[in-house]
Amino acid sequence: MQPAGLPQNVNLNTIKEVMQPRSADEIVKWQDSYAWLAGGTWLFSTPQIATDTLIDLRSLKWPSLEVSETGLDIAATCTIAELYHFKAPADWIAAPLFQLCSRAFLASFKIWNAATVGGNICMSLPAGPMVTLTTALEARYTLLPRDGSQRQVAAIDFVTGNHEYYHGAPGWEEMMRRLGATVLHNEHRVLTRGGDSLVVAGVTDAEGGHFGPGEASRPDLAFAGAPEGTPRILLAHQPRTAFKAAPFRIDLQLSGHTHGGQIIPWMLLVRLQQPVIRGLTEVPTL
Ligand SMILES: Cc1cc2nc3c(=O)[nH]c(=O)nc-3n(C[C@H](O)[C@H](O)[C@H](O)COP(=O)(O)OP(=O)(O)OC[C@H]3O[C@@H](n4cnc5c(N)ncnc54)[C@H](O)[C@@H]3O)c2cc1C
Repeated sequence: MQPAGLPQNVNLNTIKEVMQPRSADEIVKWQDSYAWLAGGTWLFSTPQIATDTLIDLRSLKWPSLEVSETGLDIAATCTIAELYHFKAPADWIAAPLFQLCSRAFLASFKIWNAATVGGNICMSLPAGPMVTLTTALEARYTLLPRDGSQRQVAAIDFVTGNHEYYHGAPGWEEMMRRLGATVLHNEHRVLTRGGDSLVVAGVTDAEGGHFGPGEASRPDLAFAGAPEGTPRILLAHQPRTAFKAAPFRIDLQLSGHTHGGQIIPWMLLVRLQQPVIRGLTEVPTL
């Protein structure tokens, strides 16, 4: 039975509240048990045991698509169907990508019409066609953090995953470089803003070594020469790289690979191989 006050279409039985803010500023605090609700196609497709509150982004009523001086402003809540039907100005030569990437979804009618651009980017699935689209178009994401002011980040940042190796990873890396992406092939960059610095490193996939010595995942090379005492982020496709990277004092590793434990039967077996399959976990350092 649903708690009183929940919209009729919410059947996740851990949810106690669905907030419907008129402005993002109304959400002043954040808890781990909260989740932003966009189209709900993934959120409602699997139990959300750790979630008790949904914040419905659709109530913000952001305009889906607006042509601006710098290009196209796409709301996080724009649906895939809306993007597909967008009529671009005739001189936008990359505009066919909107339709091509929308069609790349392996989606039903329902998903096509409900799933959002922002939801797809935030899911960060390997099959995420909106990630591909926004990276190819050199998009900038606008972030609205709860504890700071609005800021923008480039969509481009790339490390290899295991599937690149099945189809010639060096070629993919070269193509990504030509497109202007920074490929972190066992290397790092120091990012600075104002007086603050951050080390962002990337390694090749944990199984890259099977495809040649130069492809082996090498946290030691990735952090060689990195300044001490500066916060360190590691981009690594598989969570299990955390064990190999532990001696290099990583503050945060960002990984994918496990599909959030969604694929049967791998959701059961993957626990034997990876220290975490979704969410945030602390991996003991040596
Ligand atoms: C049958 C089926 C087929 C699918 N096919 C594909 C496919 O081919 N390719 C693919 O990539 N995915 C696929 N998906 C996964 C998913 O439906 C899509 O990735 C979809 O784009 C998610 O968007 P959404 O708006 O429905 O997100 P939601 O389900 O609402 O949210 C997904 C996650 O992102 C978070 N989130 C959403 N929006 C924001 C935001 N603006 N800011 C912060 N966090 C946010 C949510 O809290 C949640 O954790 C499929 C799912 C199903 C059930």
